[in-house]
Formats: sequence, C-alpha cells, structure tokens
Amino acid sequence: MSIPILAEQKLLSHKLRRTSKRLEILEIFLSHRRNAISNQDIEDKVTDIDRITLYRTLKSFVKHGLIHEVVDGNGKVKFALCEDNCDHSHHHDNHAHFHCQKCGHTICVNGDINSDLKIPVGYKVNKTSLIVEGLCAKCN
Ligand SMILES: [Zn+2]
Ligand SMILES: [Zn+2]
Ligand SMILES: [Zn+2]
Repeated sequence: MSIPILAEQKLLSHKLRRTSKRLEILEIFLSHRRNAISNQDIEDKVTDIDRITLYRTLKSFVKHGLIHEVVDGNGKVKFALCEDNCDHSHHHDNHAHFHCQKCGHTICVNGDINSDLKIPVGYKVNKTSLIVEGLCAKCN
C-alpha cells in the first residue's frame, strides 16, 4: 500500500489532526480529482465507517477548505475536492458544476463564475452555485 503523503500534507496544512479515517476519506477525494461524489459513494469505499463519523468528517473537511458541497441538478448533495487556495476561513470555488442528465455524473468545471457577474455595489457574495446540465463524454 502506498503511503498517502499528499493526504497527510493536506490535513496538516488545513489544520486538521490526522486520523486513519480522515486520511482514507481524503484519499478518495484526491483520487476523484474534479469529480463530485456522494456520501454513499464514500460509504461504499471506506471500510467500517458509520454514517455519523462520515458526516462529521465531511463537515470538518468543508469547514477547513478541503472539499466543497455540490448540489447537483436533482438537489442531491455531493462533495468535491477544493481548489488549492481554499482554507479554513475561505472557499474560492467560484466555478460551475456540470451534471450529466443521463448517468448523474457531476464534475467541477474550471473558470470563475463571479468574474463576469455584475454584482451591484454594496452586495456581498457568500456562495456561488451554477449547475450546467447536459451529457457527459461517456453518455454523449
Ligand atoms: Zn473550497
Ligand atoms: Zn453521463
Ligand atoms: Zn466544484
């Protein structure tokens, strides 16, 4: 088995204590790169994890800027690995998500959505969400 150096470094730089479950879950996100995955996907891959531990781990990962929530076109919540500049105080995932209408596959799409929006003066953006729907490369 390979030593999850990258996962360890990421936990450390995001001020999270390393536990074997955290490492295991983070490894799954690292291997999925820009692909969003659901609770169920993770539960299926991690050995002996209860839902509460998983829920708490995902919540602390989101809080510390390791992963972000993705609500796909059907209102289903998924999670994806953050961009490198996200940390415990700020998320910078101002990108769109592509959702395949056929297989449900959801991916992060590069490009800042906010840069082209003319947000009125005095308004503060807290969260940006844009879902692009269509067919993924496999289904198309
Ligand atoms: Zn983020
Ligand atoms: Zn598809
Ligand atoms: Zn994303």
